[in-house]
Amino acid sequence: MKILVTGGAGFIGSHVVDLYIREGHQVAVVDNLHTGKLENINPKARFYHIDIRSPQLEEVFEEERPEVISHQAALANVRESMVKPQLYAEVNILGSLNLLELARKYGVHKIIYASTGGAVYGEPEYLPVDESHPIHPLDPYGASKHAVEHYLHLYYLNYGIEYTSLRYPNVYGPRQDPFGEAGVIAIFTGQMLRDEQAIINGSGEQERDFVYVEDIAWANVLALERGNGGTYNLGWGKGTSVNEIFDRLKELTGYRRKAVHGPPKKGEVFKIYLKAEKAREELGWEPRVSLEEGLKATVEYFRHNL
Ligand code: NAD
Repeated sequence: MKILVTGGAGFIGSHVVDLYIREGHQVAVVDNLHTGKLENINPKARFYHIDIRSPQLEEVFEEERPEVISHQAALANVRESMVKPQLYAEVNILGSLNLLELARKYGVHKIIYASTGGAVYGEPEYLPVDESHPIHPLDPYGASKHAVEHYLHLYYLNYGIEYTSLRYPNVYGPRQDPFGEAGVIAIFTGQMLRDEQAIINGSGEQERDFVYVEDIAWANVLALERGNGGTYNLGWGKGTSVNEIFDRLKELTGYRRKAVHGPPKKGEVFKIYLKAEKAREELGWEPRVSLEEGLKATVEYFRHNL
């Protein structure tokens, strides 16, 4: 298949590209390298250094004529979105609409969309959260990501473009930014390997559903053939506390310092984990890489890539 991956130079997008190529697909990447890196891009993919908001994006469609789009590009920093709500709407909503309009014009069959389970539901009313849980994003990032799910559905109804929205949990693994503000596993691993003081925000009892990036990339492969018109949570359906992550990484890295606790971050949900029964039944997806294996692989990667 001819597949266009937006954000294919980023953390998750680059793994999606790798897996598509391994599965024998032809892949083109669009990325403006805002957070993405050239070295993440698989050399077998054709790369276009273009912003998804730009009119130039049409040239990619003209040249590549993709059958499927895996749409991973976005601004994805919750805290930044609180101070730049317009920018988040421009990139995440208008950028996606630019893509959708071109998909319509150039006869794209399907769009696979990287949505978020962590930022669309708000503070959970019950756990694990399933897809019927009320949607109450707490920040412009979550609102912008959710808005696109509506557009996908209406392009499906009005123009017959198939879609699958994948609501990702907390994804971790190689190539995640260890200097970012989000991605606690990459941040702690980086700090521990550099022997810097790692700080746990708040009590550390907050829980997230941590899934290894290759499992997330695999869902993007399954969605090529399945899940048309569907929205799916991805996750283990159980949470792991930040304290547990700290302890496990401490052991794996040989870190000697004790945890220091800072103030809790405002506006963050306390516990969230996602029920992924629907993805199991309809996509045939379930996470395969245990937390233990995934953390080991992540630490190994950062030992050589810091
Ligand atoms: P990332 O920042 O590594 O990847 C985003 C990519 O999009 C980067 O390569 C960046 O350069 C590119 N990009 C940003 N703005 C662009 C623009 N205007 N035009 C073209 N390219 C642009 O982040 P990630 O963690 O890999 O996230 C990938 C996707 O997954 C995002 O859509 C994000 O919302 C979603 N997501 C991530 C997580 C997570 O745990 N990391 C959780 C839920 C959802």
